[in-house]
Amino acid sequence: MTSAYRGRIAPTPTGALHLGHARTFHVGWQRAREADGALVLRIEDLDQVRCRPEYVEQSLDDLRWMGIAWTEGPVYQSQRSEVYRDAWHRLHATGLLYPSDVSRKEVRDAAHAPHDDEEGAELVFPPCLRPPLGAGRDVVSPDGVAWRFRVPDGETVTFHDARQGPQAFTAGTDFGDFVVWRKDGVPAYELAVVADDIEMRITEVVRGADLLKSTARQLLIYRALQASPPAWCHESLVRDADGRRLAKRHQALALRTLRERGESWADVQAGMQGDADRSISP
Ligand code: GLU
Repeated sequence: MTSAYRGRIAPTPTGALHLGHARTFHVGWQRAREADGALVLRIEDLDQVRCRPEYVEQSLDDLRWMGIAWTEGPVYQSQRSEVYRDAWHRLHATGLLYPSDVSRKEVRDAAHAPHDDEEGAELVFPPCLRPPLGAGRDVVSPDGVAWRFRVPDGETVTFHDARQGPQAFTAGTDFGDFVVWRKDGVPAYELAVVADDIEMRITEVVRGADLLKSTARQLLIYRALQASPPAWCHESLVRDADGRRLAKRHQALALRTLRERGESWADVQAGMQGDADRSISP
C-alpha cells in the first residue's frame, strides 16, 4: 500500500448481508485497491439491542467469500466510546447542540408538511420545538438526555458525488435538527460515523445512496468540527422485483443463502451486471 487513499467498509451487524451491501462493499474494496490504498473494516455495532455477535461473524465470512481483503480492523464502534464523547464535547463547545426530550409524536404533530422520503416519510424537525438559544450550554456531559444539532435553516448544503453527481439538500426543508446523541447514552449514527471517519483519516466514503441526505447532515458536522470532509461515492441501491430496496426481509438474497446454495461470488456478480437500480428476483 503506497497511496494516501483511505477507504472503509462499515457493516451494521443487525442481520444478514444481502446483495445491496455486497455491491457497495465490493465497490469500496475495488476503489481502495485501484488506488493502492488502505481499507478499514469498521463494525457499526453501537446499538447493542439490535446488533448481534453472530451477525458480525456471518458478515466477516460473507466478506471473505467475496474475496474482500481489508487492511485494517475490524474496528468495533462499541469499543470507541471515548472517540464519540470527545466529538460530542467539541461539538457542544461550538454552541450548536442542545438537549431535546421532544418525542416522535410531538415532532409528528408539530411538523405540518412531512417530506416524502424515498421510503416512508421523513419528519423534518420543526424549529418551534427548539429550546431558546444557549440551552444546555452549561452541561458538561451528554448523559441522560438526547442532543440535537441545530441546522442553519435555509442553507443549501451541496457536494459532488462520484456516482450520483452534484447534490443539494436544504437545511430546514429537506432535513431538520437531528439527533447526535441518544437519551440511552448511545451516540447517534451521524456523530459516530463522522467522528470515526475523521479519526481514521478516511479520504473517500463509499456507501449506499440511501445515505445521500445524511451526507448533507454530516457535512455540517465536519464544518462545525473544522475538519475537511472526505470525497463521496454513493452506490445506487439494489431493488427487488417489486422495486423495493433490499432489506432484512429479503432472506433469499442474503449472501449466506446464495453461498449455501453453492453459488460463487463470481456467479452472483455476473447476475448483477448491468445496472444501477436493476431489479433482482429471489
Ligand atoms: N453502517 C451503515 C450501513 O450498514 C453504513 C454507514 C456508512 O457507510 O456511513 O448501512
